Amino acid sequence: MTTNHYKVIIIGSGPAGFTAAIYTGRANLSPLVFEGSQPGGQLMITTEVENYPGFPDGVMGPEMMDLFRKQAEIFGTACETKDITKVDFSVRPFKLWSGDELYTADAVIIATGAKAKLLNIESGKKYFGYGVSACATCDGFFFKNLEVAVVGGGDTAIEEATFLTKFASKVTLIHRRNELRASKILRDRAMKNPKIEFLWDSVVEEVLGKEEGRRKSMTGLKIKNVKTGEVSELKAEGLFIAIGHEPNTQIFKGQLAMDEVGYIKLAGKGTATSVPGVFAAGDVADSVYRQAITAAGTGCAAAIDVERYLESLPR
Ligand code: NAP
Repeated sequence: MTTNHYKVIIIGSGPAGFTAAIYTGRANLSPLVFEGSQPGGQLMITTEVENYPGFPDGVMGPEMMDLFRKQAEIFGTACETKDITKVDFSVRPFKLWSGDELYTADAVIIATGAKAKLLNIESGKKYFGYGVSACATCDGFFFKNLEVAVVGGGDTAIEEATFLTKFASKVTLIHRRNELRASKILRDRAMKNPKIEFLWDSVVEEVLGKEEGRRKSMTGLKIKNVKTGEVSELKAEGLFIAIGHEPNTQIFKGQLAMDEVGYIKLAGKGTATSVPGVFAAGDVADSVYRQAITAAGTGCAAAIDVERYLESLPR
């Protein structure tokens, strides 16, 4: 077993993690970023990012993350393409493990982000990537002139349904209640869109498809009305799941205060968590804004909080 000590370890390599790295790097703290086995965060499954200031012509998600990483490395950031699998925040320095390898740090920034929740049905897993998707921005383009469905009733579902009308011939929004959770402005826009139809009080029971040799494709959905119990079939070549996100906080359970969903609770105005010296930035502590720019902003804040925390420690 080897031990490596760092002043600051950053877990996660999305906009929050790399912005924290740029700032702690420039503060001469020589940060180590654990990029995880799938580096780059959620922007790696996004196509064009049009709303990040400074890129008036838009930028591809993976290209943007590459630029973030390069900028972090210029200022002395070390990167490991490994997952942190266990932590102990009850001791000083903090202990972090990647498999059998032990790392220690005086301060930690958690920027592990969140991932899309999926439907818990076998056929949904079987056709994932073959019609079933969790990202309209990434996959909408493949459904030109086809009929698709979206599950969910929040802002994401409405945004995705509206976005999909650019490609699809018809979008059916399937919601388990008869009232949308989404904000009024998005709701009104979707209600007026002639390509969007609503299926209320309904849940997806099964994804239907066909297999021809090694080729699989989705053909429709078995839908159940939760009020009447009636089961019907809907023709759809695509299904976009937009039922919310889940923060990547499994390994911090029992070590840090979290809300009922698992988002890390911040202790005050800044990015401090319930353990002094451990900070959180980006989607892992934000269920509301979830934007690359807000994640980057809190990454910067976490780096400044770390600098101040380290300066406050007895020498
Ligand atoms: P959300 O607000 O949590 O909505 C999730 C939706 O999925 C809800 O309608 C929920 O139904 C439904 N749902 C959850 N689990 C389900 C299941 N197992 N089966 C079927 N339906 C299920 O998530 P979100 O839409 O991703 O939004 C997350 C946050 O980001 C929100 O604060 C939102 O305002 C914000 N956001 C903002 C914008 C924007 O302002 N442009 C865009 C996207 C997201 P119930 O309603 O019955 O609970």
